[in-house]
Amino acid sequence: MINSPLGSHIRLLEIHERALKKLGINTVRDLLYYFPNRYGDTSEIGVISSLRKGDSAVVFGRIFGLKTKKAFRKKIPMAEAVLEDGTGRIKIIWFHQAYLAKMIKESSLVRLEGKVSERKGELYFSNPKVENANSIPNQALFDKDKDPSSNSGDRFYPVYPETKGITSNWIYHAIQKLFKAGVLKEISDPIPKKILDTYKLPNLRTSLIWIHSPQKQPDALAARKRFAFEEVFFIQLEKQRAKKDWHSHGSFKIRKGQSEIAEFVARFPFPLTSAQNKALEQILSDFNKGEPMSRLLEGDVGSGKTAVAAATAYAVITSKPQGQDFDNLQTAYMVPTEILAKQHFDSFIENFTHTGVQMGLITGSGCLKFPSKVNPQQATPISRPQFLKWVANGEIPIVIGTHTLIQKAVRFKHLAFVIIDEQHRFGTAQRQRFREKEGRIPHLLSMTATPIPRTLALTIYGDLDLSLLDELPPGRKWPETEIVIPDRRQETYERIRAEIKAGRQAYVICPRIDEPDPTKELALQAKSVKEEAKRLKKDVFPEFEIGILHSKMPARLNSTSRSGGKPSKEEVMKDFAEGKIQILVSTSVVEVGVNVPNATMIIIEGAERFGLAQLHQLRGRVMRSSHQPYCFIFTDSKSQTSRERLGALGKAKSGFELAEFDLNQRGAGELSGRKQWGLSDLAMEAIKNIKMVEAARNEAQSIISTDPELKNYPLLHARLSENSEKIHFE
Ligand code: ADP
Ligand code: MG
Repeated sequence: MINSPLGSHIRLLEIHERALKKLGINTVRDLLYYFPNRYGDTSEIGVISSLRKGDSAVVFGRIFGLKTKKAFRKKIPMAEAVLEDGTGRIKIIWFHQAYLAKMIKESSLVRLEGKVSERKGELYFSNPKVENANSIPNQALFDKDKDPSSNSGDRFYPVYPETKGITSNWIYHAIQKLFKAGVLKEISDPIPKKILDTYKLPNLRTSLIWIHSPQKQPDALAARKRFAFEEVFFIQLEKQRAKKDWHSHGSFKIRKGQSEIAEFVARFPFPLTSAQNKALEQILSDFNKGEPMSRLLEGDVGSGKTAVAAATAYAVITSKPQGQDFDNLQTAYMVPTEILAKQHFDSFIENFTHTGVQMGLITGSGCLKFPSKVNPQQATPISRPQFLKWVANGEIPIVIGTHTLIQKAVRFKHLAFVIIDEQHRFGTAQRQRFREKEGRIPHLLSMTATPIPRTLALTIYGDLDLSLLDELPPGRKWPETEIVIPDRRQETYERIRAEIKAGRQAYVICPRIDEPDPTKELALQAKSVKEEAKRLKKDVFPEFEIGILHSKMPARLNSTSRSGGKPSKEEVMKDFAEGKIQILVSTSVVEVGVNVPNATMIIIEGAERFGLAQLHQLRGRVMRSSHQPYCFIFTDSKSQTSRERLGALGKAKSGFELAEFDLNQRGAGELSGRKQWGLSDLAMEAIKNIKMVEAARNEAQSIISTDPELKNYPLLHARLSENSEKIHFE
């Protein structure tokens, strides 16, 4: 029953089917694993007749008389309505949230939560939270014909995330129906009892009852803890198994010690930091093991990951395939954007020219090869088929590119080393592509500047070994970070003007490319690149050259001459790098890896719309020279939490500190765990608990190391294969 389609046990209307699909619920199990995001307490539900001024209350009722208007002389947009619940009626007023009135239907049943105020003797709710309700929940719980396993008479009722077509109440009743149909009887717990006992976790049946209809809060919490453990434990099992599997294959043996690459490294215009040297040593030692490396190089922005990539690539491409004295091993270097690909290509040209090695760049916009036959100092555009041919026959040992690199058409002769920059942008599935292409598995180096908390790293990168660049090159200046409120905008512009006059450059980051569509009321009122660039030129910095950069511009890597038409990203970056543009107004496309040392100022508009990690990345753009850098965070947000968050940016001395702060301060949902890391909100909550993560990891490790095939754990085995099938089909 548990794996059968939900529709075979519960009657579904088309609207339900559509909604369930959107929520990713197909089977009975999917629904049982759809958890409430909180619990309401029926004892907190008030009735309108007993409300008093100053109360914080939850009331259910029908809403009438919805209308929007402008309030007072100040013309604040506002909405009004009246709520009725059978005991009385009360007025509702929303300031600045007029759109709410359009999201709620006249005379629908709603749940209202907020503060009761009074004006001229009349009570009203001001700016309450409002959500659609299907019926009044305590009525549902106080039903006469209740299921013994549902905890009737209880104060707590689950509140599930809703979507169009499905209410929290519908979900509640559907689950109770499954319980009544006996679904719990045929459930067996995949987690070994010994583990549950060790960590005092309730078994699966109890947990399902407790999470969906708890008698008391501690039961609900215990159930949540169990499911959080379960999710992290399964991720760990999968990662540990992947790791074991990865290392069981053969790989290219590359025998190069530090001394053999010393000459190459000595050509860098700087000595390596000790963190870089250590990472280098770890990688070279992995190369020599005969099994494929899978290593994560994690280092704050500007810690010098590219130099490590170059030095290790050198070790590879100067090695020959085993038992052969012709051909070179090949390296593929994959990065997330075309701008970055070009930038890395250029810096590799600097590092490798003296070796005479051929290098290629492949992106969606075309291919380049270095050196050109005609001019050995230059790269030349070549056709894609020609490029692919040279890569396939091994003539181009170093290939740099965007995700185009993992397309089927790109074949290598001896691909021994894959470097992935900013690895979080590539999923595990994409990483796997490299291994499917060649018989042998290449060594894998993932690099990321996204500082993530240790617990999260242990979870999502559980299959990788870790090298840390926890040290910045000497002489780097940390940006002075200031939160700028609207009143101080002009003054800040004057400081920027002075810096630019002294020869520096600035980035201005905006959250949007175009102006929002004014007909869309809910559109973000955020600054756009195009309008802001115009405004700055006209009103603020008429004396400077201002350029724009965003993802919708053509990349156009192939044209060596100016096209006359719209400028391409590359042209703009080049002009900025050469100082022809003083101010670059951009979306967050400059976020990763872009390197223009003379740019020492960054203004971030609408900063509250960016995550802390992203802000930190953006700020990293101006930490690249010996001039004092500045980061100006422009915000007009009045929210206390958002000010606190931005304040943390000013205080934190490393990306890792910030990441921990973000994890602890922000709600699980806001970390967008699912979107970014593929983790549920529950698991994101669990990630805050290092003990739990370590426990799950240790248990998974000990099971996989003694029984990699899970022969003694048929239930675990079954669940894991189901999970991986699911991932496969997504
Ligand atoms: P990231 O780790 O963010 O990718 P990069 O590799 O782009 O950082 O390096 C940032 C800048 O620091 C580059 O200009 C690079 O040349 C320089 N750099 C790298 N390593 C060192 C070092 N050991 N000493 C001084 N400068 C370095
Ligand atoms: Mg980088």
